[in-house]
Amino acid sequence: MSLKLPVAAGATAPQEHSPVGLFAIETWGCQMNVHDSEKMAGALIRLGYRPTKDLHRADVILLNTCAIREKASHKIYTRLGRLRRLKLRNPGLLIGVTGCVAQLEGEAIFRRAPFVDLVLGPRGLSALPELLEKARHRRSAHLEPLEDSLTYPFETAVRSHEVKAFVTVMEGCDKRCTFCVVPATRGKQEYRALQHVLQEVRFLVEKGYREVELLGQNVNTYRSGDTDFAGLLLAVDGVDGIERVRFTTSHPLHFDDSIMDAMAAGRNICPSIHLPVQSGSDRILRLMRRGYHRKRFLDRVERIRTTIPGCTLSTDIIVGFPGEDEDDFAQTMSLLEEVRFERIFSFLFSARPGTPAENLPIGTSLTVRKGRLARLQGRQMEIQAEIHADMVGERVMVLVEGNARTGEGVLLGRTPGSHLVHFSGHDGMIGRILPVDVSSCTATALYGSVSAECPSP
Ligand code: SAM
Repeated sequence: MSLKLPVAAGATAPQEHSPVGLFAIETWGCQMNVHDSEKMAGALIRLGYRPTKDLHRADVILLNTCAIREKASHKIYTRLGRLRRLKLRNPGLLIGVTGCVAQLEGEAIFRRAPFVDLVLGPRGLSALPELLEKARHRRSAHLEPLEDSLTYPFETAVRSHEVKAFVTVMEGCDKRCTFCVVPATRGKQEYRALQHVLQEVRFLVEKGYREVELLGQNVNTYRSGDTDFAGLLLAVDGVDGIERVRFTTSHPLHFDDSIMDAMAAGRNICPSIHLPVQSGSDRILRLMRRGYHRKRFLDRVERIRTTIPGCTLSTDIIVGFPGEDEDDFAQTMSLLEEVRFERIFSFLFSARPGTPAENLPIGTSLTVRKGRLARLQGRQMEIQAEIHADMVGERVMVLVEGNARTGEGVLLGRTPGSHLVHFSGHDGMIGRILPVDVSSCTATALYGSVSAECPSP
């Protein structure tokens, strides 16, 4: 699942002059990368650096990268090309490449962009201070091995939201999906101890956060002693003061009944599940080595809908996997009709280095594949518009996350089902859960006003 890029971590921390220097982090990719940037921002602040949005003033710039698709990897080099100009003007500037491209390409980054000072993979974040120190003494610093990053000092992370916070529950991935580079970039699957997760959630509640999102590549395979993912959800939900619990990403193969029962039984576990299906065709699912069939996926969806009424579903879909023909694609389209996801993230297949699908013959032209993607996205927009239109006239409970960029006095927040809602209000409403009457919609958002019956703050 991808976020728009780039996101500046640490931008909410106070901007002040510092004896050590100023830093900026640009983040590409998924929520895990966003949270890694929050952890790195915390480490830099502990060293005495302060964040800046002005790259011309920065002493350290880190690009926290995503390797999921080729385009994302290429963009890093274009971005580095631009940063090189800053370095020519300010030779003291340290430039680092972190994240998945750093892990995948390692030393090759120094060869292609010799002005880069440090390269650090996503499982070695604790080495950032040491690498910076080396880089300051003009030694290019690179950390190759994947390290355990499950015991990081969570208190120091500089969160990019005021109201909701990410909590890592696992690192890495042991799946072997033929298209995916993640096992190579994020390493072996490891879980964070339950007590450590709960400690962080309690800490966040004390700091005023209302919502936590549990993060990992396949969170629903979670294990800590006797506690499985259903147990983890209930334990987090049981923390006093937590108002919303979310999680991502779940693997369809492991989305067991016990998880649905926990969601139905919980007080504040949001009825919203991201369940990446990737394709509606069994033949393609087998080639992708996903470990489930279309029928299993649809069975999970039906169980979710009967166990957790009103539960919303989102998914990831890859279009144009090698060998996908018109019939396979038709099955993906029909799955879209059957499930009617609230949201999808859809991508053209991108061959990634070292993956089993890298050299498979694609079999269809780019024009055909792009045409399929456009059809999929077009139909999904219609479905979303229909789902949203059905919600006009409803009253929804919105956790107010902040100001919308669309105009003065416009706030945005989410329903428990993760629908994005815009409405007018003031800053004092941020962090509150408010009833909003939905009066209009688009395919991507709901619009409304705070219910007249809601007591003013
Ligand atoms: N762990 C999740 C799972 O296995 O379902 C996937 C996480 S991945 C970071 C996010 C999404 O990127 C995937 O679900 C997939 O749709 C997409 N993706 C991964 N590799 C891809 C590739 N080689 N080409 C296109 N899309 C890809």
